[in-house]
Amino acid sequence: MIDPVTVADERGEWMEIANVGTVAADLAGWSFRSANDAGFLVHSSIVVPPGGTVLLARAPGAVNGAQPALVYYGIALSNRSDWLVLRDPDGKTRDSVAWSAPPRGTALVHHAIGPAPAPVAGDIPARAGDTSIRARDTSVRVDARATYSPPLTNRELVVRVLDVGQGDAILIQNGGSTVIVDGGPERRTYARWLEELRVPDTIDAVILTHAHGDHFTGLRELFRSRNGRVIRAFWWNGDQATPLSQSHLPDSVAARARRGAMLLHDTDDPCGDGRPLCTIALKGGALLHILRPLPNSRLENDRSVALKLVGPDSASFTMWLAGDAQHDAIDWFGGGAGYARTPGMHADVLKADHHGSCDGVDDRYLDLVHPSLVIASLGAANDYGHMHAQAKAAYTRHGIPWYRTDQNGTVTLRSPGTAGGGYTVTVERGTKNASGPSDRKSYQPDCAAM
Ligand SMILES: [Zn+2]
Repeated sequence: MIDPVTVADERGEWMEIANVGTVAADLAGWSFRSANDAGFLVHSSIVVPPGGTVLLARAPGAVNGAQPALVYYGIALSNRSDWLVLRDPDGKTRDSVAWSAPPRGTALVHHAIGPAPAPVAGDIPARAGDTSIRARDTSVRVDARATYSPPLTNRELVVRVLDVGQGDAILIQNGGSTVIVDGGPERRTYARWLEELRVPDTIDAVILTHAHGDHFTGLRELFRSRNGRVIRAFWWNGDQATPLSQSHLPDSVAARARRGAMLLHDTDDPCGDGRPLCTIALKGGALLHILRPLPNSRLENDRSVALKLVGPDSASFTMWLAGDAQHDAIDWFGGGAGYARTPGMHADVLKADHHGSCDGVDDRYLDLVHPSLVIASLGAANDYGHMHAQAKAAYTRHGIPWYRTDQNGTVTLRSPGTAGGGYTVTVERGTKNASGPSDRKSYQPDCAAM
C-alpha cells in the first residue's frame, strides 16, 4: 500500500508477503530495501506457511481488519517513483517491485512466480481504512501499471472498459482530456473506479448512450455536489424514458445546465447545428465522433448514440461504440445513416453492442466495423444470458477474439499516439474468448436467423 487514501502515509503504508513456495518460510534475517531509505532487517521469527501471507505495516493498528505481524521502520514508499526489494539472509534478492505514479489506496497486484498460490497480496476484502482495495485473481500475470497509470505522455490515448458489473462504463483519457461514456449500473462501484484511477475532477465530456439504468445510474457519482466535479459538456438523447425519469439524474443535469455550469447537448442534434455528426477534439490529438442515434425508435436500446474514437495516430487505433444498439439501429448505422461513409465505421476495436447480446450483432455489422478485437461489458451473473451463444459464434466466424469484463475485469487499451505505435490491450485476469456462467443461446425472434 504505497499511497493510502484515508490516512497519512506514515500511518497507512503496509506490505504483504506471500509464500508462493511449498514449504514454510521464516522471515527472520530477511531484509527490505527501498530507494533513499535506511531499510529494515527482520529480527523476529515470522513464519509464513506455504500459500500463506503475512502483513507488515508501517504503524500499529489493524489494516482492513487484519493485525500486522510486524511493524517496520526505515522504509517509506514514495508516492512517485520508488522500488522495494525483499532480500533473503544471504543478501539475495527474492522479489522486487518498482513503480511510478502508483494508484492511490490500491495494492499492487502480486505477480505469481512459482506455483500459483491461494489468493495473496491485494486480496484483503475492503472493510475499514482504505476501502478501494479490490479482490482479484492473482493466479494470472497482470500488468497493474498498464491498467492503472494515467496516460504517460501527452499523446497517449488510454481507453478503459471498466468492470462495473452488468452495464457499461467507459473512460477515455488523452492529453489531459477526460471523456466518460456511461457510468454503469451502480454508483459506489463507479465511485471506486474514479478514485482508483485518479480521474481528474474536471470531465470534458460525459455521454450517456441511452436511458437505461445499467448505463446511467453510476453517473450520479459525477453529479454529487460534495465531489466538486466540473462537467464541461453532457450529451444524452433527451427521451422521456421511464427508467431515467424516475432517477435523480435529470434533475442534476437540468440544474447544472440552468446555472450555466455545463453545456447540455441532445445526441439527436449533437453539435446543435443540424448535422448528424459532432466531433470532439481531445487535447492529445484523439478525436471522438458523436453520431446521431436512430430516430424515433420505440426501443430505448435502439436510441443508443454511436461513437467513433480515433486515436492521435489514426492508423494505430480506432474504436466503435454504440451502447446497446440492436439490429434496427446497427443496420441503420451502416445504411440510412451513412456512417459507413462518414466518418467510416471501420475500427480496430468494437465495444460489443448490448453486452454481447445476439440482437446487437450481425454479419453485416462485423463486416463494416471489421474489428480486430471485441470488448463486451457485462456482469458474470446476469439475467439475460449474456454473452449469447449466437454473438460469440458471430465473432468467432469473423475471426475476432473478445475480452469481457465479467471474466477479464477492466480492459485497458493504450495507444501511444505516435506513428505506427499501434495499441496494447491489458486485462486484469483471465484469457481471451472466455465464456461466462450466464452465457446461453437466446431464443428471441431477433436472433432466430443467427
Ligand atoms: Zn445495457
